[in-house]
Parts: sequence; C-alpha cells; structure tokens
Amino acid sequence: MDRFGKSLVWFRRDLRDVDHAALHHALARSGEVCCVFIFDKLILDPLPRDDRRVEFIHDSAAELDAALRAAGGGLIVLHGDPVEEIPALAARLGAEAVLANHDYEPYAVQRDVRVAAALERDGRAWLSFKDQVIFEKNEVMTRGGTPFSVFTPYKKAWLAALHAGGDDDSVQPWVTSGLPGRLAPPPAGDMPSLEALGFSRTNLASLPLGTGMSGGARLLERFVERLGDYQRLRDYPAASGTSLLSVHLRFGTVSVRSLARLALQAMRSGQGADGGATWLSELIWRDFYFMILHWHPRVVSEAFRPEYDRIEWETGEQADRLFAAWCEGRTGYPLVDAAMLQLRRTGFMHNRLRMVTASFLVKDLGIDWRRGERYFAQQLNDFDLSANNGGWQWAASSGCDAQPYFRIFNPVTQSERFDPQGGFIRHFLPQLGRLSDKHLHAPWLAPRSALDAAGIVIGRDYPAPVVDHDEARRRTLARYAVVRKSG
Ligand code: FAD
Repeated sequence: MDRFGKSLVWFRRDLRDVDHAALHHALARSGEVCCVFIFDKLILDPLPRDDRRVEFIHDSAAELDAALRAAGGGLIVLHGDPVEEIPALAARLGAEAVLANHDYEPYAVQRDVRVAAALERDGRAWLSFKDQVIFEKNEVMTRGGTPFSVFTPYKKAWLAALHAGGDDDSVQPWVTSGLPGRLAPPPAGDMPSLEALGFSRTNLASLPLGTGMSGGARLLERFVERLGDYQRLRDYPAASGTSLLSVHLRFGTVSVRSLARLALQAMRSGQGADGGATWLSELIWRDFYFMILHWHPRVVSEAFRPEYDRIEWETGEQADRLFAAWCEGRTGYPLVDAAMLQLRRTGFMHNRLRMVTASFLVKDLGIDWRRGERYFAQQLNDFDLSANNGGWQWAASSGCDAQPYFRIFNPVTQSERFDPQGGFIRHFLPQLGRLSDKHLHAPWLAPRSALDAAGIVIGRDYPAPVVDHDEARRRTLARYAVVRKSG
C-alpha cells in the first residue's frame, strides 16, 4: 500500500470529520493531511440566489472547518471549477495524493474522471472510497451476477451481505482519530461568507433541520426516542413520525453507517424492533436507488421501462396552467395543495405526500413525470438524483419495481386516510381551518351551510378542483394503454 508524505482530502457530499472513509485512509497513510471543499461554480451559477441548500452547505462546511481546526487542521474553501482547482491546489500544497469518497451521479463521475486524469498527468495519485452508502455498485447482485431491479430480493441479498462478515463489517465506523497522520493547518484565508459567494440567507434557520454535524446529531438524538413508533406513524404527515435526516444524509453531515447501526441495535434489542426494521428498509431503498443509477444512468432522462416513453403527456397552455397550479398549491385538492406549500415554504415534503403529489401530477393532470422531477430537484433540500428519480418513476409506474400503472391514488381518500383530523392540511391552509374533518378533504362537496359556517366561498377563498378525479382516472388508463399494448 502506498504511503504519502502529504495528501489532500477533498470533501464533497460528506461534510463531517468523523466516520469518514477518505479522511480515515488519508490519516492512516500520510504524514500530513490537508482538507479542501470547493463550491462548484458549475453547480452554483444556475441556482437562485436564495437557495436553502447552498446555505446548508455553507454553514455545514463552516462547522467542519471549526472541527478540523480544533484538531490542528482546517478546511481550505475554494469557489471554482474542481477540475481546475483540485490539481492546481494539490500542486501548490505539494500533495502526492488526493483522496475523496465516491460520488455516483453522472456529472460527478465524469468530473472525477477528469480530475483523476489531470492528477495522473502531474504524477499524483487519486484514490476514492465507498462512504455514502452501505453497499454500492456490484456489491449486492443476483446469483447470476446481474443487478437487481426488484426491491424485495435486493433487500434480502443486502441483509445477507451485511450478515456475511459476522460483525456487521459494512456498518463499522471509519475512525479518524488515533491514526499516524496529522492534520495540516490551511494556508491563511477565511472561509468565504455566503454573501461573498453571491447568495443570501433563507428561512433555513427557522426550520427544524439544523445544519452541520451538530444539527444532524440533534435530529438523530430526538429520533432515537421515536424510532419504536416509526412503523406506526411514518405515513402521517401531521405526526413527527420520520427522522427528517434526509438533508443530512444528502450532504453527509451524518454517516449512513451510524444510522444503520442504530436501526440494527433497535431490531436486536427487541425494543422498537419493528420501527428499526422498517427504518432500515428505507435506508436500503436509498442504496437500491444509488445502485440503479450506477447501472442504468440513462434513467436520468429516460423511463427505466422503455415502453413508458411511448406515453403521450399533456402539453401546451392548459398543461402549463395546470402545472403552475400544482407547483403553487392551487389544485383545489387540500392534501395536494398543503403538501406543495410545505415544499415551497420549507424545502421538505413528507414521503407519503411526495407519493401523492407525484401521482397527482402524472395521473390526474397527465403531465410528464420529468417536469415534476425537475421541480422537486429545484425545491427539495434533500434533493438526491437517485432517490428523486426513483420516487418519480415509481409514481409514474415507469420505474423498476414501480407502482402498477392502473394503481392511481385518489387524492381525497389518501387525505382521509393519512390526515384524518386535518392537522397537516389546516397548518398549511389555514383558510380551511374552520371546515369540519368530514368536509376538509373535499371542500367543493361540502353543503353550502357548512361552507357558510366556515366562512369559505369556493373560487374565492379556496380553488375549485382543477380536474375531476374520476374523469382524470379514465383518461390516464387510456393514456397508459400504449404500455399494455406493447407488453
Ligand atoms: P425517514 O423516513 O426518516 O427515512 C430515513 C432515510 O431513508 C431518509 O432520510 C432517506 O435518506 C432514506 N429514504 C427514505 N425513504 C426513501 C425512499 N423511498 N427512497 C430512497 N431513500 C429513502 N429522498 C431523498 O433523499 N431525496 C430526494 O430527492 C427524494 N425525492 C423523492 C421524490 C419522490 C417522488 C418520492 C416518492 C420520494 C422521494 N424521496 C427522496 C424519498 C423520501 O420521500 C425521502 O427520503 C424522505 O421523505 C425523507 O424524510 P426523512 O429523512 O424523514 O425519512
């Protein structure tokens, strides 16, 4: 194994200094370790100036810098194109190797190939490691050596791989202290402010997400107490049933291994075993979609099942109007509208509601899932190409192991079932607050007396439904007939 006098760790979507594969390997194999984070101009430039994710990254990088400084090092923070910045920085520092954790998105894969080639030209090494998933690429395959495309057998094989080593090796932490190497302090220069990067603060600080390792740890601490109830509560957006950790997983301010260990502990202790097992399943879905993206990068623009690209979606002015109503929470279906307002105001949307709103766009409004996927990508704090694409293709029925095309969520019955007392709807649509639980889910069907008593005029205080669900359902079944014919 090569050893290096000096190496450089490039942090990307792994903004923590504990349980970090690349940092572990750098400290284990180098005399001195420098650390860098780059605000990638190519990603940042097209974003609106008030993007919550940039603020999240900025504040998380600042916390990482402080943690590294406390251990004698620090974070060099640059703003530019990594393909130029990384080789130039490695040369300036005299680093013999650059180490990073794998990134699976097509843009990142290409970027890393170019960085590695430039380093190689300069005689420097490029090493990268698995860190953001438990099992990656070809680590969990069918007996025939092909990638899985159905979740349940994948999950079975995933669990078998986890237990194969006996000690849950795959979820053990990568220690970053007590290793031979030492962190090198960065050359003088402060972390750029958010404003210096051209961005402004958003309402992120008022949301219950926190930033950085400390924010992730706080959420986790609170969630541990609720893990036992996860299975029972996770589908109810008015309940605090889920962890809210997705943004921290996205930017690596928590380690996925620590979450898997927690789930396994709950399963084995007998306390909260069901909650632990269901939560672990969600983490396995996350690995599953990363694996799908690795083997089928074409899903970024195409249906996983090619026959679904024969569907003719609604286009033109009427479709644009309906799309705008969906984005802005003006469809007349309260659960859909409240969910879309949650997304706009907080950058988060509960999983059940992601399924309901995605289904509504595709199967009630007849609009191409790719349009919805793009909108979610702009809005979600936790936007992750693999999970977002997987979720949208699931809802559109075009994905691997997706919901069958003839299964069409009814937005009213979903509302009655998953927000029965309307706690979620009333929070985001206070104008409906005085409607009874019975009428809240479909206000246009409420008798005049009930609307009068609640002070609501449909069309003035709240929109009439933009489509009739039963008619939309019939249109969707006809639209999807091309899939049946080709099957
Ligand atoms: P918890 O219920 O606490 O789950 C724990 C973790 O497991 C999550 O943080 C997440 O990392 C992972 N997870 C949970 N459900 C899924 C799933 N279905 N697929 C993959 N991973 C999962 N998740 C994203 O992280 N980024 C996205 O861009 C994204 N887009 C989605 C789009 C659609 C249309 C749908 C239906 C789902 C999408 N999801 C996405 C999955 C899921 O909705 C979110 O991960 C979850 O709502 C995050 O909340 P939480 O952290 O409280 O989750």
